[in-house]
Amino acid sequence: MLKSHNCGQLRASHEGEDVTLAGWVHRRRDHGGLIFIDLRDHDGLTQVVFNPKEGGEAYAVADTVRGEYVLQVEGTVAHRPKGTENAHLPTGEIEVKAHAATVLNEAKTPPFYIVEETDVDELLRLKYRYLDLRRETIHRNIVLRARVTKFIRDFLTERGFTEIETPILTAPTPEGARDYLVPSRVHAGHFYALPQSPQQMKQLLMVAGFERYFQIAHCLRDEDLRADRQPEHTQLDLEMSFISDEEDILRLLEELYYQLAQTVTPHFSVQAHPFPRLTYEESVRRFGTDKPDLRYGLELVDLSDALRESEFAIFRQTVAAGGVVRAICVPGGAEFSRKQTDDLTTFVQQYGAKGLVSLAFLGDGPIDALSQDEIRSPVAKYFTVEQAREMARLSGAGRGDMLLIVADQPGVANKALDGLRREVAGRLELADSGTLAFAFVTHYPMFEWSAGEERWVSSHHPFTSPRREDIPLMDSDPGRVHSHAYDLVCNGWELFSGSIRIHRREIQEKVFAMLGIGAEEAQRRFGHMLEAFEYGAPPHAGIGAGIDRLMAVLTGQPDIREVIAFPKTKSATDPLTGAPGEVTAEQLADLHIAITEREEGTS
Ligand code: ASP
Repeated sequence: MLKSHNCGQLRASHEGEDVTLAGWVHRRRDHGGLIFIDLRDHDGLTQVVFNPKEGGEAYAVADTVRGEYVLQVEGTVAHRPKGTENAHLPTGEIEVKAHAATVLNEAKTPPFYIVEETDVDELLRLKYRYLDLRRETIHRNIVLRARVTKFIRDFLTERGFTEIETPILTAPTPEGARDYLVPSRVHAGHFYALPQSPQQMKQLLMVAGFERYFQIAHCLRDEDLRADRQPEHTQLDLEMSFISDEEDILRLLEELYYQLAQTVTPHFSVQAHPFPRLTYEESVRRFGTDKPDLRYGLELVDLSDALRESEFAIFRQTVAAGGVVRAICVPGGAEFSRKQTDDLTTFVQQYGAKGLVSLAFLGDGPIDALSQDEIRSPVAKYFTVEQAREMARLSGAGRGDMLLIVADQPGVANKALDGLRREVAGRLELADSGTLAFAFVTHYPMFEWSAGEERWVSSHHPFTSPRREDIPLMDSDPGRVHSHAYDLVCNGWELFSGSIRIHRREIQEKVFAMLGIGAEEAQRRFGHMLEAFEYGAPPHAGIGAGIDRLMAVLTGQPDIREVIAFPKTKSATDPLTGAPGEVTAEQLADLHIAITEREEGTS
């Protein structure tokens, strides 16, 4: 090796040893005759001192190097002079006094700083990802990611799980997104789909008798991109047989996530263990979403009944039209300026809410003694003191607090208030960044009505089992059928979803029929699954758990691109390689494909 030690390795106990280090020139400082270089490698930083009197040739080399040059140094470990130790650096007690240095490679000036975490345009970062990945935070994120997947592999392997790979070229499996397709050269006009998940394969592995399967799998979905989505994501894909109910699988996963947090990221505290369990309905009622951040309160309150007869026409009419009036109570919110509440009004409009009404309770003393002139709201005159007190009572508000009220159809009001809850918590810094608040969400609806398609669609995916007790409702009232789907959420992110599966042909056929997939189509698309269920399919359940999202939570990054080595941009391109790119006419001909339309700006 070109090095005897790593750059993060040397301590005072190595004093006097001769060592060889190799790495990148992180920083170089010229101090009146002495040159100091912080040499960086994957492991850390070491300060190297070049003294012309002790190593003239090495000094001459150090004099020529610039940032990001690749340098090998031979030298002796010495204690730093008293008072110059750096307590922030693991190697901060020592330095290496160089007696030889070799430039292993030169470097152009990088397009952005490696030494500092400055804001750099995303396109530039991704174009030079190999330089971006040298930067400390992202470099550490990627290393932590490897420790997390190793922990997962060890944990599951110890518990009898077998890691099995499934194909990338496959047939479509519905997960609710568009497929990425790959044309077949051999079979003109036919296409493989890249897996949106290994859903069908893992269920078939259960039929095949593996009983406990997992894989760290790539899943590809052609969908609109956001901070928590990009075209390919990595998922811990897991399936197990012979569970008697969902608690069997949830308890195993609770231990996995709990121990992972304790072992790999012990600086976090887990808010509650065992993890709280919420039904879907409860979660939506209390937080407006099925992925609530439970690190803070700000729960939703329903004021519809209290305001059904309100003088304020918007509230009255919304309730009469089947809508709701819901609010969050902001502690100390009476201090918000007019501008701050106006900003929040604009904020909720992005969720389709028509507006936001603020109502603050001023003055001192018990809320029952509130007087009319202690209600501050742009629409205060429409509310009686009794109504205001009732609103305070329902929401638990006291003097100095402020209600933020949305009146709309339930779906819009919930979305807006979920967004508002997160926004207000952010502004008031209510979420403790050192806490992981895990919770399971269960009892999802089996079907959702798609107004656009005018049919029922799966809330999870079509292989999810309905709850046994709700099966009789399938024909009469599909909207009230609950499924055996469950999610794990943490700090407002969905970390996994999964379900107990259907393992009987007749129920699977029934569900396909409910989804408008006729017998013939079911046979064509999923005949292999239906058939497999006839050969002794065991009861089974599983999950798909986002590794990228887990890493975003564990590193406190708002965007999953910060935990993926080579992500795509928000428009699904890779500025580094230029993907997606064009192909030659011959390649197209081989694939029996003709291009009818090209994106502007390309040839
Ligand atoms: N296949 C599902 C997904 O990728 C997870 C599961 O049900 O196992 O979201």
